[in-house]
Amino acid sequence: MKDRLNRFMRGRYGADELSRFLLVLFIACVIINAFTRTNIFYAVSLALLVVCYYRMFSRNHAARYAENQKYLSMKNRVLTKLGLTARQREQRKNYHIYHCPSCKQKIRIPRGKGKICITCPKCGREFTKKS
Ligand SMILES: [Zn+2]
Repeated sequence: MKDRLNRFMRGRYGADELSRFLLVLFIACVIINAFTRTNIFYAVSLALLVVCYYRMFSRNHAARYAENQKYLSMKNRVLTKLGLTARQREQRKNYHIYHCPSCKQKIRIPRGKGKICITCPKCGREFTKKS
């Protein structure tokens, strides 16, 4: 049985980040559908499942890889905008991020130094903040 599955999957694309995301969306739609009982979520969840399996069993690696890269790039852009990347979370532990009142330049200030005068490196404006 396992050998047959291995033979079937040989040369196929398999799972990647985008397929996992589609599966999570599918599960979310199934759960929402259980509460709302609308055909829209049922149809969307079925479509997500079909797309997910189509991608996993596809033999066109280049196209699937390109889709996954596009998804990863979009995901990274959204996470960066929301300040949720691992680097940004790590930075927030040790630094305050302030914006210059004149030019809106982001300025990183170490935490725990008390009230300090900050000089904007871009426009030279000075302002006082608690670090
Ligand atoms: Zn400035």
